[in-house]
Amino acid sequence: MVGAENLITRPSELVVYECDGYTLEKETPPAVVFPNSTEAVASVVRVCREHEVPVLARGAGTGLAGGATPLGGGVVLSLARMKKILDISLRDRMVHVQAGVLNLELSSLLSDTHWHFAPDPSSQVACTIGGNIATNAGGPHTLKYGVTVNHVLGVTWVAGTGEVIQVGPEATSAEFDWIGLWTGSEGTLGVATEAWLRLTPLPLAHRTFRVIFQSVEDACNAVSRIIAAGLIPAAMELMDRGILQAVEDAFHFGFPSEAEAILVVELDGIPIALDEQERIVAQLCRDCHAQEIVSAASEEERALLWRCRKSAVGAVGRLSTGYFIQDGVVPRTRLPELVRRVANIGCERGVRIVNVAHAGDGNIHPILLFDERDPDEVRRAMAAGRAILEACIELGGSITAEHGVGIEKLPLMTALFSPDDLDVFWRVKRVFDPANIMTPGKLLPPPPRLSQQDEKNGQPR
Ligand SMILES: Cc1cc2nc3c(=O)[nH]c(=O)nc-3n(C[C@H](O)[C@H](O)[C@H](O)COP(=O)(O)OP(=O)(O)OC[C@H]3O[C@@H](n4cnc5c(N)ncnc54)[C@H](O)[C@@H]3O)c2cc1C
Repeated sequence: MVGAENLITRPSELVVYECDGYTLEKETPPAVVFPNSTEAVASVVRVCREHEVPVLARGAGTGLAGGATPLGGGVVLSLARMKKILDISLRDRMVHVQAGVLNLELSSLLSDTHWHFAPDPSSQVACTIGGNIATNAGGPHTLKYGVTVNHVLGVTWVAGTGEVIQVGPEATSAEFDWIGLWTGSEGTLGVATEAWLRLTPLPLAHRTFRVIFQSVEDACNAVSRIIAAGLIPAAMELMDRGILQAVEDAFHFGFPSEAEAILVVELDGIPIALDEQERIVAQLCRDCHAQEIVSAASEEERALLWRCRKSAVGAVGRLSTGYFIQDGVVPRTRLPELVRRVANIGCERGVRIVNVAHAGDGNIHPILLFDERDPDEVRRAMAAGRAILEACIELGGSITAEHGVGIEKLPLMTALFSPDDLDVFWRVKRVFDPANIMTPGKLLPPPPRLSQQDEKNGQPR
């Protein structure tokens, strides 16, 4: 159906697809297909449905929650070869792309215009637009510009029935918000094959600075104060001492690796407004015991600050042979308490934890370090990860801010949602995927038991 050159079944090649960026659970899939059109995706889904074979959509496999990990057999449907830019319309502020286009490629392509695609996950050099839609990806600058769902104007969708549904890109308010429903559904409702994406004007000017704090808590307090003052910086990113040291050891950017915490703050907009905003932010940081504030004096210095932040995960290999990146979110004002709890959880369980965070969003990414060859260390790290997410729930937050639920957080869905909530999720899923072949075993815990009446109707309770 897709041609022999677009199918792999050889074990030595399949092993590449045994997991995504969450490496604690792995399974080699029996086959990976690489369709190159919406019609080919639909054909694959239809034949899989006929034979009741699970289908797992995969973009670049940069996910950090095991969403693209093929547990339990089934076909991996890779969008990696669907990477055509189909149309760019600056007059409509819109691009039309296939789902396998890489996030950064899009903005690079537009670099000589005044436009860009605003969602900028730190993995943007590798992750795909389809993966961004499926996880509703965020990034440093989505604090001001909004996460992926705010930038999707239309989608071509292959449902679990094999039907092709196109929504948008024409604006209409006279229908359900299908894009809102599909975005973040982690492949469980179908496969995004094409998307129409909103373009955002590039800001006229930036002010980017790094602020050193005496403690992570002080840095988190500053974040809340800045927002309370009525300012929405483009980004407010936190790095703690552990991660700063790793980045400095690995890349020698000249960063203050002895600092307890650093906040990278970026303001953007009309140049005339930025001086005053910078003054207010600096004062609020000083009120929270900031020790040093250094502004990027040139575009090169600004780029260096961002390289330092975006190299954080890459540097973790200096610290440990194994790690996983947790992803939780709380109301911003609860961040100081959460970071305290994360530190305590690490101490109590003997797990070393270093931290980066999209702090402006109340989003934390503690990185838990362990030696994969030591089962006890792995067990303690996983228990610590779970305790961190439970703390997020207790503090009024959620078990994922942007990486999704995947398999890693599946057990916690029942802590976050009531049986009735999960029942609604299942009813929605059945509409698009009645045979439950799309990405089964991810995001949604097993369906509730069928009542006799529902069994007759083929519906979960
Ligand atoms: C170093 C690093 C930094 C990161 N930083 C961020 C960050 O700042 N913000 C953030 O949000 N995430 C971040 N991530 C996580 C990850 O990059 C994002 O979740 C990204 O959106 C995944 O895209 P992908 O193409 O790799 O998708 P994959 O990992 O291949 O898949 C992710 C999920 O989406 C589903 N899926 C993929 N493509 C489709 C499709 N076309 N249709 C339907 N379902 C599909 C998969 O089944 C899976 O459930 C980071 C990851 C790494 C490794």
